[in-house]
Amino acid sequence: MQLKYEKMDRNAPCWCGSGRKYKHCHEAFDEKIRTFELKGALVPDRSLIKTEKDMEGIRKSAVINIAVLDEVADRIRVGMTTQEIDDIVYNTTVKMGGIPADLHYEGYPKSVCTSINDQVCHGIPSDDIVLQDGDIINVDCSTILNGYFSDSSRMFCIGDVSPENRKLVEVTKECVDIGLEHVKPWTFLGDMGHAVHQHALDNGYTVVKEIGGHGCGLEFHEDPYVSYVSRPGTEMLMVPGMCFTIEPMVNMGSDEIFQDEDDGWGIYTADGKPSAQWEIQVLVTETGHELITY
Ligand SMILES: [Zn+2]
Repeated sequence: MQLKYEKMDRNAPCWCGSGRKYKHCHEAFDEKIRTFELKGALVPDRSLIKTEKDMEGIRKSAVINIAVLDEVADRIRVGMTTQEIDDIVYNTTVKMGGIPADLHYEGYPKSVCTSINDQVCHGIPSDDIVLQDGDIINVDCSTILNGYFSDSSRMFCIGDVSPENRKLVEVTKECVDIGLEHVKPWTFLGDMGHAVHQHALDNGYTVVKEIGGHGCGLEFHEDPYVSYVSRPGTEMLMVPGMCFTIEPMVNMGSDEIFQDEDDGWGIYTADGKPSAQWEIQVLVTETGHELITY
């Protein structure tokens, strides 16, 4: 069996680019991963382990992403069109020196995704979509700065939102917070995903299976795929330097979804009931985690 973490020449320069000898740099780290790999665990490629330079670049990108969502939070209101949200995202991102990662991504026409009520994700902003009193909306934004990617999304309650819908929004935020608590090195993404799923189930909700989180940092979407319907002890081993998103889509009704065939992007709940999503980006550290975006 070919291991990703085969033994290396101990006196050779470390693979991480630090310039130090392997035995003084990542040897012990690699040994630890190898023990999991030998037991059959799914372990990350070295390309998914961020260097200090990468982490610095991702953090700077994240400063913009957070500021953009803060700006949306300040200005979002009843009667606003989702195109106006798109304008805020584009203008704030560019003013701060970044590029909206969504724009032109696989042909996507706008700078942000705005998904309202039964729209699960990937809603395209439009002059024709006006925020109504009682709507719940997810605003999902992503930034490129100097080649580094950041990504997060928040829910906003517009005007007078029903208690049922408000609870969905709040519980979904709790799911993300619980997921974050479960990000620690040498445990599994499945441990985290299971905890997220369980909190949704405990509140009578379901979690979308087909769409999940992703590695993020040097590219918009990197490995691993991050599921929130996973079992403990499964999925990829979390090791220091991995960076990924926690972004469960929590449905009030069934977990079934469908894609809008007209625009090719929008995802909706099959039963027409509301869905909520919050997204953070997190870095696995030696002792636990660092919150990168929110
Ligand atoms: Zn190294």
